[in-house]
Amino acid sequence: MTPLRIALISPKGPLYRHRGGIWRKSLRYQPLTLTTLAALIPADIPHTVQCIDEGIADVPLDLDVDVVGLTVITGTAVRAYALADHFRARGITVVLGGPHVTLIPDDAQPHADAIVVGYAEDTWPQLLHDIVAGTLQRRYTMAPGLSLADRPFPRRDLLPGRHFITNNVFEATRGCVHPCEFCVVPTAWGRKPFLKPVADVVADIRRHGAKKLIFIDLNLIADREHAKTLFTALIPLKLNWYGLATVLLADDLELLELCARSGCRGLLMGLESMSAANLKGSRKGFNSPDNFVRVVERLHAHGIALQGCFVFGLDEDTPDVFLKTAEFAVQAKIDLPRFAVVTPFPNTPLHKRLEAEGRILTRNWELYDAQHVVFQPKHMSVEELQRGIESAWKHAYSLNGIWRRIRQSPAPWPVRIGTNLGYRFYANNLSRFYNCDWIIGRAPSGQDMGYVETSTDAATAEVGS
Ligand code: SF4
Repeated sequence: MTPLRIALISPKGPLYRHRGGIWRKSLRYQPLTLTTLAALIPADIPHTVQCIDEGIADVPLDLDVDVVGLTVITGTAVRAYALADHFRARGITVVLGGPHVTLIPDDAQPHADAIVVGYAEDTWPQLLHDIVAGTLQRRYTMAPGLSLADRPFPRRDLLPGRHFITNNVFEATRGCVHPCEFCVVPTAWGRKPFLKPVADVVADIRRHGAKKLIFIDLNLIADREHAKTLFTALIPLKLNWYGLATVLLADDLELLELCARSGCRGLLMGLESMSAANLKGSRKGFNSPDNFVRVVERLHAHGIALQGCFVFGLDEDTPDVFLKTAEFAVQAKIDLPRFAVVTPFPNTPLHKRLEAEGRILTRNWELYDAQHVVFQPKHMSVEELQRGIESAWKHAYSLNGIWRRIRQSPAPWPVRIGTNLGYRFYANNLSRFYNCDWIIGRAPSGQDMGYVETSTDAATAEVGS
């Protein structure tokens, strides 16, 4: 049997679609999606597989393969569909999957021979068997009760390590228990987290020989008991690790203690807003601005640095929100603050609400990247929101702002300085990388026009929490 030639592609993301991207190699880590999909290809199908991350290099359009699989987030959907259409026109079987496809499958379906809705652990191998048998279906949907146990380890060898700061990237859970209005996670995958057996996670870390690593779980403490088991199992490995969690960790001293002992050195948390009304309206009322200083202090006391993320454009935000929030980040000594535009990703409760209120300005998915304003803010103009975010970045990453924030950071000095200077570069170059010249310079597609007319100089943040 002739081997099935498979190419797995992550299309250019918002950070790379224009002028090569703002981040240099040193600030990127190896993503897990493609390498996980590669590992899931059934051993009984003779095949060759290659992984292409367009964050590194463009996809060769003359790719000589039988199957192309594209993973799609909303910000890459336009690029993914263009690639899909191109490869299908060349007679190659194209499969689309990922968060955007899971959120709105009917949007992706016309561009693919088959789509995968939900996590692909069971459906992707089935789909490949169907290709071999000549019985490919149009849609493969994750069945309830998916298990992450006993899955093959990601094929990290398939992406060139030299292009990333690290390929020591792991996951222990997927999903989250919370119902945040703007978040893709509960809409796409529900509110019951998927848990990897801790023994599997530890075995992957040991096999890979990682000592410094990143957990990409969206909320590592979504299941408290699982988190406790995981942290306890990590202690003997003597790791340094970074990950994501909610502020609730700071109120749970037993779990926080275990987290620190397991080697946690930094966490990304979505603080989101300094307005309690905003947080309540976003169904994230478990965040309380009154507690944010205590969150920072408790993390620092346990040797954990905080990457604190804020979103702007929520309904209570007025034009003074930007400097107020950025100055809070400085005074609270948040090690690495980040600022993004709240983005109504398709089919989320936020998108549905704004659509019902007639406030969605564009369905051009390229602009759904947490960098551009795609809806009408309530108490400010689109321009005020775009420019306000830039001012927040510049305030937090002024030399004075950096110094005031990092003096007492628990991170080693080279890390504090290196990361903050990286973000300072980002803050000072936002308008170069996130303006809309690249949209204005091409033929408009009708539905873009409302946006183009109102925004000529976008500037915001990296993708939020
Ligand atoms: S924003 Fe964070 S806490 Fe809220 S649902 Fe999403 S992952 Fe969970």
